[in-house]
Amino acid sequence: MRGQWVRLDEVLTRIESHQDYPGNVAGVLAEMLAAVALVADGIKFQGAVSLQSRGPGPLTTVLAECRSRHLLRGIARWTDADPLPESESLHALLGNGQLALSLIPETADSRSQRAPYQGLVGITDQHLAGNLERYFQDSEQLPTLLRFARDGDSVTGLLLQRMPDEDDATEIELDEADAFWEEIGMLTATLTDAELAALDPEVLLSRLYAEHPLTLQPPRSLTFQCTCSRVKTRDTLQAFSREELLDLLEEDIPPKAPGEILVTCEICGASERFDAFDIHMMFVPGTPRIH
Ligand SMILES: [Zn+2]
Repeated sequence: MRGQWVRLDEVLTRIESHQDYPGNVAGVLAEMLAAVALVADGIKFQGAVSLQSRGPGPLTTVLAECRSRHLLRGIARWTDADPLPESESLHALLGNGQLALSLIPETADSRSQRAPYQGLVGITDQHLAGNLERYFQDSEQLPTLLRFARDGDSVTGLLLQRMPDEDDATEIELDEADAFWEEIGMLTATLTDAELAALDPEVLLSRLYAEHPLTLQPPRSLTFQCTCSRVKTRDTLQAFSREELLDLLEEDIPPKAPGEILVTCEICGASERFDAFDIHMMFVPGTPRIH
């Protein structure tokens, strides 16, 4: 078997600092960020691993993404129509929804993106971990144990997976592997959330699986990084007509002053300002584009 352990603390604070997230929304986003970090490490995939919720509940969207196995970003949005429930249950927040796990390959030319792989799982468990365990078991045929524990501004995740059997494994070897996986399950069930949230991985794993040989790979750091840029924002603005942009320019809605268009990224909080000259340049034929 193999596994991944992750703890997000400063990177989580950074991601959640741009929005005033209620505690339960911040918790769901934190677990989804930990999940994409765990999955991205396990599959050694170059590209982006994203986990997105879709559902009719008051928490309309949660998106967590891990690019190049170490760059994290994420966002949650909810509707103002009804008061957001205080419950942490995914049913209460997302309704009878789905989780989509996508692998988006990285290509040298970002405009010719290859088709992403996407797996879907219905939300039948109150907790993220239970739903993702079922996804790996049913869609990937990988028996999986997944745990998350939160403590203040940090979240810790532990993912364990039983590796596929060798093609030429004997009945005895298969029975032994089953018994081993069952034992690992029972040992993991003794782990409390407080222990998972507080202990360092070396201590936690060597205590929990003391009877078994354990190999730890070197740790890696995770960083917050957004994908927004002035060029992308300008491309988005070009979907509007020149007249629409000039109308927007004159609006006086603080913090935006007349004479500028202010675009703020919801994910990282960065603002880009465009003035009348910028808008004029967008509509000059043959203006070179920088990519
Ligand atoms: Zn951004």
